[in-house]
Amino acid sequence: MEAPETLAGVAARLAALRARIAAAEAEAARSPGSVELVAVAKTHPAELARAAIDAGQRVFAENRVQEAKAKWPALREAAPDVALHLIGPLQTNKARDAVALFDAIETVDRPRLAAALARAMDRTGRRPACLVEVNTGAEAQKAGVHPAEADDFIAACRSTYGLPVEGLMCIPPAGEEPALHFALLAEIARRNGLARLSMGMTADFETAIQLGATHIRLGTAVFGPRRG
Ligand SMILES: *Cc1c(COP(=O)(O)O)cnc(C)c1O
Repeated sequence: MEAPETLAGVAARLAALRARIAAAEAEAARSPGSVELVAVAKTHPAELARAAIDAGQRVFAENRVQEAKAKWPALREAAPDVALHLIGPLQTNKARDAVALFDAIETVDRPRLAAALARAMDRTGRRPACLVEVNTGAEAQKAGVHPAEADDFIAACRSTYGLPVEGLMCIPPAGEEPALHFALLAEIARRNGLARLSMGMTADFETAIQLGATHIRLGTAVFGPRRG
């Protein structure tokens, strides 16, 4: 097998993934192209992200503001149509950097952060799409709003803070059947009139597509094992 970190390896992996995504869309009777592959570049060097861009990939994610700041301005200058999502926890004091850097913020999960994002959007005029992260497993140490509080929080994000809330995101608990968590996220989205569902990673993206994912976040499957 080709070493995962080679540039040609990234292109080959992307081609294989596009075929698997198309097959999963067909299997779920969903329209072709209804699922967006979000390539998670965290820990990987800019050359690998560039190889993915050269292979036609246009939507990427990072989990840290600092890493995105170091890696993406140069990449985006070369490929202005690339979109970048934040998928890691966001500290309130980095809200302004996040609004400046990202096209979507997938980890909105508390009122103080929603308020900071709203202020940053007012000041900069940029309005990245916001996704509310739901802690579907109600895990004590995990980010995300508790499922029982999701409806109220989504309503507050919309009306109190005026955020452009477009969807929901979840990371199911390790070792549990992800389908139950994906189904719960889809149900919360449905009753709140939200179209976008960011769910499914390397190990479970086909299940997520079956249950309505519109965005799947793939790191290992695209870039190989993480560094560091
Ligand atoms: C790292 C990460 C991913 C990608 O995980 P893989 O299993 O490597 O595909 C997806 N979502 C989030 C929130 C992550 O932090």
